[in-house]
Amino acid sequence: MKFVIANWKMNGDFELVNQMMSEIGKGRECCKVIVCPPAALITSFKGFEHDLGAQNSFYEEKGAFTGENSPKLLKDIGCKYVILGHSERRAIFQESDELIFKKWNAAIRFGLTPIICIGETLEERSRWKEVLSAQLANYCADKSLDLQGTIFAYEPVWSIGTGKVPSMQEIEDAIGFIKDVIGAERNYYVVYGGSVNGSNSAEILNIHGLDGVLVGSASLKVSDFKTIIGNASV
Ligand code: PEP
Repeated sequence: MKFVIANWKMNGDFELVNQMMSEIGKGRECCKVIVCPPAALITSFKGFEHDLGAQNSFYEEKGAFTGENSPKLLKDIGCKYVILGHSERRAIFQESDELIFKKWNAAIRFGLTPIICIGETLEERSRWKEVLSAQLANYCADKSLDLQGTIFAYEPVWSIGTGKVPSMQEIEDAIGFIKDVIGAERNYYVVYGGSVNGSNSAEILNIHGLDGVLVGSASLKVSDFKTIIGNASV
């Protein structure tokens, strides 16, 4: 079963929630749909037939952390997943691999499944293996660490929101590399994100070893998102 994960980023409103709720009901699709709206919209998805995720969460349950979201509260309001370490959080909010790993631990502790984003920038493209290895190091130092179904999202930064997609072979190579680094016999998934849309999703979802897609801008267009869901269900 493939994952189709929607990252709305800081977009969307009540109208889009209602549209999504009425048009993306449980149909005959056999993929796992996860919608990650802005935190302020999560509770508006009352009765939604798919899973919800947050786009970030803090590493403590509660306290003097103005502006942060508690992983426990996110769980309590209905989130099952949380995106951590998105490239925008890494670049704009200077999130380090160490901080992301602390958030990973807290998310697991409070019953959220983390979606950990990794990927190289354009400048780092020639040494992508080194970059991915460094971003994965905390999850691999102890191979007996239970990853509890963590979803690793390979998102080349140069592909996010640009319409530029690596070749299918490059994605397959990166997925294979990630799996080699993390190791077999561990409980995790690997998805791809970066300019996935209705037109290219069938080919991308067919890549050997890929467990699904993380979709940004195309997840805001209900018809595109429905096409991606359809392509993940075949
Ligand atoms: C993202 O932000 O995670 C993403 C994949 O964006 P887009 O699909 O717009 O490239």
